[in-house]
Amino acid sequence: MSLHQVRLTARRNASAGTKTFAFERPEGFAYLPGQFFYVSLPLGGAGDKPLIHHFTLSSSPTEDFLAFTTRMTGSEFKMTIDALDDGTVVNIDGPHGGFVLRQNMHSVAYICGGIGITPVRSTLRWATDVDAQVDIVVLYASHDLAGEAFRDELDSLRGPRRKVIEVFSEPPEGWNGATGHVDADLVRSCVSDWHGRFVFVSGPPGMVRSLAEMLAGDVGVRPGRLIVEEFPGYS
Ligand SMILES: Cc1cc2nc3c(=O)[nH]c(=O)nc-3n(C[C@H](O)[C@H](O)[C@H](O)COP(=O)(O)OP(=O)(O)OC[C@H]3O[C@@H](n4cnc5c(N)ncnc54)[C@H](O)[C@@H]3O)c2cc1C
Repeated sequence: MSLHQVRLTARRNASAGTKTFAFERPEGFAYLPGQFFYVSLPLGGAGDKPLIHHFTLSSSPTEDFLAFTTRMTGSEFKMTIDALDDGTVVNIDGPHGGFVLRQNMHSVAYICGGIGITPVRSTLRWATDVDAQVDIVVLYASHDLAGEAFRDELDSLRGPRRKVIEVFSEPPEGWNGATGHVDADLVRSCVSDWHGRFVFVSGPPGMVRSLAEMLAGDVGVRPGRLIVEEFPGYS
């Protein structure tokens, strides 16, 4: 891990209400899909406090830029970064974190809600680019279609070893896929071989905690096979 100064190079919408911010990738900045970094903005907040947040890298190690994707909540950090001109230099510190595939993980599942998709986007992009020999199933819960980040890209990342199941609590008209909240029945009905998989859960803390409890309890995911990442600041 290390400190770097990098230029903000681009920003784009990832869905209604979410944005991806992209930066130069410093020479030698190596990371694994699922890791996070700290982003420190050059402008002080109230009382000149530095504005620092940590974000999962939604970019993949196979890409020549770094990026994070976030829900635009109107917070001071997010208003400030959105107001920066492209080319502005920010400080980053990373990579950090262990929400990553290990060598013994040949069969995995990701269950994510909302912005918890960011490590999954990185992992699916990487797995596609390197043709990784790992079987990945994703259960991606969103409120509605408009709020689903990376929708078009996820279509292109599906493959024989990469299945993405979308779940909407407010499904679009004519939707005949999964609906409602992710519960034990939905988990069991979508993927029959849960017991053989390592299971990653990411998203808002409340959702992550209740899913982890349900997976360890009702579904029976074995201890040591459950890996969680909570994104504080979201309810
Ligand atoms: C490992 C990791 C990876 C993350 N990856 C992402 C990501 O990919 N995308 C993304 O959008 N967000 C991610 N987050 C969350 C991110 O760091 C912010 O907390 C989140 O985006 C909310 O920021 P905000 O500026 O909208 O809200 P803020 O104004 O910062 O916070 C909103 C409310 O939450 C409270 N809060 C903030 N941080 C904490 C905390 N650490 N503990 C308890 N309460 C807190 C604040 O006090 C405030 O009341 C990640 C967090 C972690 C730990």
